[in-house]
Amino acid sequence: MAALAPGSTIGILGGGQLGRMLALAAARLGLKSHIFCPEGDNPGSHVCDCITLAEYDDAAALDRFAAGIQVATYEFENVPVACVERIAKKIALRPGIDALRISQDRLSEKTFLSGLGIATAPFAPVDDADALNQAAARTGLPAILKTRRFGYDGRGQALLRTQADIAGAWQKIGALPAVLEGFVAFECEISVIAARGADGAIACYDPPENQHTEGILSISRVPARISGTTADAAREMTRRILTALDYAGVIGVEFFVLKDGALMVNEFAPRVHNSGHWTLDACATSQFEQHIRAICGWPLGDPARHSDAEMRNLIGADAGQWSALAADPGLCLHLYGKDAPRPGRKMGHVTRLFSRSANSDAAS
Ligand code: AMP
Repeated sequence: MAALAPGSTIGILGGGQLGRMLALAAARLGLKSHIFCPEGDNPGSHVCDCITLAEYDDAAALDRFAAGIQVATYEFENVPVACVERIAKKIALRPGIDALRISQDRLSEKTFLSGLGIATAPFAPVDDADALNQAAARTGLPAILKTRRFGYDGRGQALLRTQADIAGAWQKIGALPAVLEGFVAFECEISVIAARGADGAIACYDPPENQHTEGILSISRVPARISGTTADAAREMTRRILTALDYAGVIGVEFFVLKDGALMVNEFAPRVHNSGHWTLDACATSQFEQHIRAICGWPLGDPARHSDAEMRNLIGADAGQWSALAADPGLCLHLYGKDAPRPGRKMGHVTRLFSRSANSDAAS
């Protein structure tokens, strides 16, 4: 596919905050965006050129959508595979279907990573309550039972501390196909946000260190408190994943860092990632612009960061503090324009910039 010229239209499946920030980045490059999403509170729809409100299995709506765009992408990983298969028959889909299919299922994701020689937490499939005892014998306890599909932000998970927790765990996650993961006593969590262009070029951002509260990302700080060797190893594993998937676009790969600096991949998201939001304010090219460049066949932008940064999510009622946050001259404030500040809902984020530290791990 030749590079898409300014004025071309990018189709985005999903109308959340990631779709919104992608549409804004596209607009900055003179590209148009058409968002496809079901009815609801869709902050992406406020800033795009065109919107289709329809279900992801509405074949006629998908066909009309595909007919009016020059490339398609997705902003969340739970888009039904049948939907992207239909679109990919008509128009380039970036990233491709494999990345989506693999990352939708924790078991296929871990199997894929193991096949690349990339370490993960010890894991075992759990297809019914009886299989749980056997799985626990393989992974050891403590362990976390996670539904294979549709889990995010810590949902669909149960912590098994001791043998006594096994009995109720299967019901607790909704009696769905699952994987049991050994609990990793990590030192910290980091992620690599990286892009692969249509020509195979790869650009990685410096890995942020991520802090979660109740399974939801709360803070990303860059640089992470890791050695240059660990940062390089994380980037190298990310490159391996991107190449194996023949990927085009931005990916977010989440890692556990162990005491000795060894890495395990927790999961990857085939899209722009919450732990990369700091790139909007601390880099010449944000992860959103980078994704647009990659899927449009443009050269990738410079991922170097000009500042250290700390990004905090505004979750639920946090966004009610917008006035005080806006009055702080050191904060870059991003609000997503969502209607209802429900508990656990990501309403916006703030990024504070600092002078770039000398002891950065930054080699890329
Ligand atoms: P996930 O939904 O798999 O991304 O999990 C959300 C968060 O739960 C992770 O970012 C970790 O903080 C924690 N977590 C998930 N899996 C494990 C594990 N196997 N061992 C320790 N902590 C975990």
